[in-house]
Amino acid sequence: QVVLKAYITDGRAPREDDMAVTVSTLPELKAPKGSGGFLVKNLYLSCDPYMRGRMRPPSPASYIHSFLPSRPIEGFGVSEVVDSDNPEFQAGDFIAGMTGWEEYTLIQKPQQLRKISRIDGVPLSYHLGLLGMPGFTAYCGLYELCSPKSGEFVFVSAASGAVGQIVGQLAKLQGCHVVGSAGSTTKVEILTSKMGFDAAFNYKEEADLDAALKRYFPQGIDIYFDNVGGEMLDAALLNMRVKGRIAVCGMVSQHGVTDSGPGIRNISNVIVKRIKMQGFLQSDYLHLYPRFLDHVTAHFLAGDIVYVEDMDEGLESAPAALAGLFTGENIGKKVVRVALP
Ligand code: NDP
Repeated sequence: QVVLKAYITDGRAPREDDMAVTVSTLPELKAPKGSGGFLVKNLYLSCDPYMRGRMRPPSPASYIHSFLPSRPIEGFGVSEVVDSDNPEFQAGDFIAGMTGWEEYTLIQKPQQLRKISRIDGVPLSYHLGLLGMPGFTAYCGLYELCSPKSGEFVFVSAASGAVGQIVGQLAKLQGCHVVGSAGSTTKVEILTSKMGFDAAFNYKEEADLDAALKRYFPQGIDIYFDNVGGEMLDAALLNMRVKGRIAVCGMVSQHGVTDSGPGIRNISNVIVKRIKMQGFLQSDYLHLYPRFLDHVTAHFLAGDIVYVEDMDEGLESAPAALAGLFTGENIGKKVVRVALP
């Protein structure tokens, strides 16, 4: 099992040593009779930036429950049912949903959980990214908040990550001009050569983000899909076109920023340019999940969308894998393989 040692009480990003790998023994590989639960063998675990929010002490202000210290971390996973006391789930079923960071989990209250069937050409782990929560975040954030139209100029930050790579490719399918930012030369190269972005740049090499955006968007930005917040959001505000849309998806740059300095200086552009800037949680749009699955699966199988996954092996690699999201170690969607089906 991978457990959280203690809550992180300051604003810093998580580190590998915030978590520990522990061993405990199950008496038998069975779901207790009368429990209504089912025992799963966890195959793949998802590393996601929102999990940082669950490492904070409990707070009424948070939209999500904190983890329990010394208990296994919870997250999205793909698992196989090995024994069941619940008529809806049978041994041999594959499921995607909330599970524990451990080899086996007894699931008693299924949360955001769905049965998955094997699709030729789609690895089971893709249900944690392309066809899972991150892909869905891209889908609802882009279509529901930004209404992309052919010919529009779209900017995506953290563009090679789990969410960003799908946003950019969906916007391309919509006929948009798409530029992404990412934190390394390798990531920039993948965006343009593999994922079909029109252009990409390494934000770490740009001394002036406003000048960089002016270079890539001489006519301005219609849609900014913001995965990072902070200085990039501020620079994007300066470069938005009138009636532009900003989907405020995530603020991964803001961990550890304790001195907020002058703050976002360019926020008045929201008014002057009548920009629609909206925060969202993918969980508000779950009714659209079936439509998303059909749409993205069909485009992936037709070869219109590529998907980059970054897989580590073994449960013991999970703490470093999660911490690495906050230093940009991952190239594409980060998952950990715990076991083979
Ligand atoms: P990624 O796969 O993109 O991994 C995180 C990436 O963030 C890193 O690889 C790194 O890429 C980038 N990053 C890390 N630190 C910084 C920094 N200081 N400044 C700029 N970039 C940084 O993660 P996801 O695609 O899963 O998530 C992307 C965003 O979407 C996150 O902010 C997440 O919280 C948010 N999200 C929101 C949801 C919602 O419902 N609103 C649902 C799911 C995700 P690089 O090397 O390019 O810097």
